[in-house]
This record gives sequence, structure tokens and C-alpha cells, in this order.
Amino acid sequence: MSKKKVVIIGSGIGGSGVGALLAHSGAYEVSLYERNKLIGGRFASYEKEGFKIDIGCHLIANCDKGALGQILRLVGRPDWVEWHYALKPEPCINFKGKRVRFPEEIDAIGLPPEDVSKLMEFYTRVLSIPEAEYDAWDRRSVFSLMQEYTKNETVRAVFGLLSAIFFVISDQDTPVGEYALCSKQMLMNQSTGYPAGGTGSVPEAYVRSIKTDGGQVFLSTPIKQVVVENGEAKGIILETGQKIEADIVISNAGNQPTVNFLVGRKHYRPEVLERLDKYQYSYCTSMMKIALDQPITDELMVMFIGRDDLSVWEKENQAGIIPEVLPGVMAPVISNLDPKACPAGRQLIIAGGGMHPMPEKPDNKFFKKLEASMYNALKIIYPGIEKHIMWTIFTTSREIDNLFGEDGNVVGIAQKIGQVGPDRPFLTDPCVKNLYHCSADSGRHGIGGELAADSALRLFELLESK
Ligand SMILES: Cc1cc2nc3c(=O)[nH]c(=O)nc-3n(C[C@H](O)[C@H](O)[C@H](O)COP(=O)(O)OP(=O)(O)OC[C@H]3O[C@@H](n4cnc5c(N)ncnc54)[C@H](O)[C@@H]3O)c2cc1C
Repeated sequence: MSKKKVVIIGSGIGGSGVGALLAHSGAYEVSLYERNKLIGGRFASYEKEGFKIDIGCHLIANCDKGALGQILRLVGRPDWVEWHYALKPEPCINFKGKRVRFPEEIDAIGLPPEDVSKLMEFYTRVLSIPEAEYDAWDRRSVFSLMQEYTKNETVRAVFGLLSAIFFVISDQDTPVGEYALCSKQMLMNQSTGYPAGGTGSVPEAYVRSIKTDGGQVFLSTPIKQVVVENGEAKGIILETGQKIEADIVISNAGNQPTVNFLVGRKHYRPEVLERLDKYQYSYCTSMMKIALDQPITDELMVMFIGRDDLSVWEKENQAGIIPEVLPGVMAPVISNLDPKACPAGRQLIIAGGGMHPMPEKPDNKFFKKLEASMYNALKIIYPGIEKHIMWTIFTTSREIDNLFGEDGNVVGIAQKIGQVGPDRPFLTDPCVKNLYHCSADSGRHGIGGELAADSALRLFELLESK
């Protein structure tokens, strides 16, 4: 039987992941086109002076035991990525300059004992929600449920921010069902960590798998258009004008950019466009990559919380005020997670933070202030760090936007109330036959990259069942 010809637009986790699965099945001839020179979209990595730098700032929720590892297992290459868990020492909370291990050192935060026991009750309730009830709980926010247990602002600052780390949105928008599902999965798997060689090693392994199974991958090859004839996808047109015919087109570019720019709105029914236009992205963050001339810490991952008045900070955020010290920073110590991430005797930290709805047109001044604010947070986390900095790279959401689009947001279409479970964007295009969407936008469950991998697994299952 002749193979079906599939073209994939984009080498992010969704695109490269589904490509690997389809190429391995033997039923598809896979060609993947990526507009950038790096593989992996938001998961891509590159090298500078022997330091392996990720474009983003990542910790992977379930590593080999989650959806990213599942793709490698299904193509029979589970060992093509080596994972390092961030468990010993376990992640540390730095609360206003004080290092606190959770839960054993929670007293150091200074919470009243009744709030600690209420917090435990909250977690017990969340973790005991039966799977069948997740969709119903998705209409309720983590913030509103926690308020039933405690209104303590410090509890909210610490645990609200942790919930925001999962989905990069406010705890007021975070649906309880999705939060419960992801928390339970992480608790059971105990495999949060980082891939050796940088996050790019995951999509790079998928691309290697596509090629090993006879597929083709083209980098620095932007796609201009999806060819649609009589309501059916027939192939793609490259920026160069070359037409590539295909039986199936899969877009990893995101649901909104695919419909608006690659396919064209004229092919869509008004009610589909109306729904699509309403979806909102997760927040943006900025990142500082810090090359150090010597190791300054044994930590694997630090979560910095610089203040406990989240409600005030939220208002400042909305008003575009950048505080002296960035209050929420996630700082994995990359070279402690993966010793090969930098030359011997050096250290690499990548800090991400400052989730915020961006001002309409952020200028250089805005980003300079953000950089200074993050630097001040790092000086609190690691006093004396400035003496050991060889260089830093500050990556802004504007750069992420230039590379990958979607306003430079972190995850994709946000997992907020009204946008989760059955309300996620479509995997199968509702108006154009033989066109599919595979990215974090169309993933059902999971955190960050795992949401994109979930989309790849679901699309593969769907195409295999046809
Ligand atoms: C700062 C930051 C921090 C993050 N932290 C974490 C974390 O800690 N843990 C975690 O799991 N996830 C994290 N994420 C999220 C995670 O990286 C993303 O959710 C995931 O990588 C998205 O994958 P995707 O498949 O949707 O594709 P994307 O990464 O969006 O890639 C899409 C690809 O399509 C390509 N493309 C688009 N249009 C075209 C075209 N016309 N022609 C050719 N190619 C095209 C793009 O160039 C891109 O390579 C973070 C992301 C960022 C930015």
C-alpha cells in the first residue's frame, strides 16, 4: 500500500512529536518544514562558549514518565533522551531571601499554624477529586477554592504563584480540575526534571527519529500558505513560492496563526472564527541566562517569592509598574541538573519570571527595567552572584514573539477557565478537510511542553484510527 504524504509546519514539540510517531508507523511519508534554523520552537537550545542555552527557561513536569517520554517509548527509542530528576535536593522556595524547603521547613515562612493546617486540607481536597469530576471542577478557580480554606496573603503568594508556574496564568484563572490532574500526576510520577543536552534535545530526538524512519526535515524553510481547494487541504506553499502537494497537512504553528495567516479566514464559518478569536494566550515571561565562572550553589531548582502581597502586585502589573525586585522568579540551576550543560568548573543558571499581561507596545526601556528587576531578585537569591558572572543573556517575550509568534507567550492558548477540557481549541480543523492542528494550543492536558506532546499523541491516535 502506498504511504500517505504528510506535511508538517513547525518543529516544536507538537510538530516534531507527531512527525516522529507518524514516520515510525510506516503508513506515512513525513516531510517537516521549520522556518527557524533551530529545531524545537520554544523548546530549542543552542550553544555559546561551551554553555548549552535554552531559548526558554524550563523544568519538565514528568520527564520520561510523561507525554514527552511516551512519544519516545512509542517510537521504540526511550533512551534517545537522558533525563535528570530535580529531586535531590528537592526544589527550594526562597521566600524574601530565606531558603525554605517545603513542606518540612514551612514554619520558616512564618505562617500561623491554623493556616498551615488549612493549606494541607486544601491540598487533600484537591488531590482527592475523582477524575470523572475534573471537567465540573474546571469551572472553579484555584484562588476561589483556596479562599474557602484560608485568606492569608502569604499562603496565596507562595501557593498561588506555584499554581501559576504550572500554567503561567493567575491563580484566579486557574481551573481546579486541570490543576488537580497535573498535581496528582507529578506527585505520583516523582519525575520532575530536565533533559541532558538542554530542552532542545527532546525535539532533536524526535527529528532524528523522523529521519531514521525515512522522513525529511527542512530547517530555515518558512511556509507561506496552506493550499485549500474545495474545502480540502492539498499541500503547502513555501516562502520561495514552491508548492508541495500532500494528502494531510498538520500545522504546529498554533490554531490562531494557522487559521488567520496560513489558511485564511475566508475558509471558516463565522461561528468558528468567533470562538477562535476569543481564546487567550498564557502570560509572557522574560529570562536571564547566567554564565558563572565557578559553581555558587548546590541547588537544582529555586522558586523565589519576593513579597506576599500578590493582590497589590497584580494591580501594579496591570498598571505596567515594574517593581525594584521581581517578586516571582523560577531559577533552575541548569548545570547542576545536567553537568554537561557548561564547561567544567563553571555554572549555568537560567531564571525566568515576571509573568505579566504585557503592555500593548513594550519598548526597550520597559525591558531594561524588567532586566534590572530580575537581576535584583537574583542578587537576593544568591548574594554575591555579581562577582562570578561571566556574561548574561536577557531574552524577552518580544524575541520569543519574533521567533515563534503568538505574542511571545509561554505555553500557548492558556489553560484558563473556559479554555480547558472539551473547551480546548480544535485538533481536527472544523472547516478544512485533511488539515490538523498539533501544538500546545490543541493539547488537552499537561504542563507546558507536555501539553504539546499530548496534542501529538492524540492526533497520532486519531489518524491511526481512520
Ligand atoms: C520562557 C518559557 C518558559 C517555559 N517554561 C516551560 C517549562 O518550565 N516547562 C515546560 O514544559 N514548558 C515550558 N514552556 C512552554 C513550552 O516551551 C511550550 O508550551 C511548548 O514548547 C510549545 O510547543 P508547540 O508544539 O506548541 O510549538 P512551538 O514551540 O510554538 O513551535 C512552533 C514551531 O512552528 C514554527 N512555525 C510557525 N509558523 C511557521 C511557518 N509559517 N513555517 C514554518 N515553521 C513555522 C515555529 O518557528 C516554531 O518552531 C516555556 C516556554 C517559554 C517561552
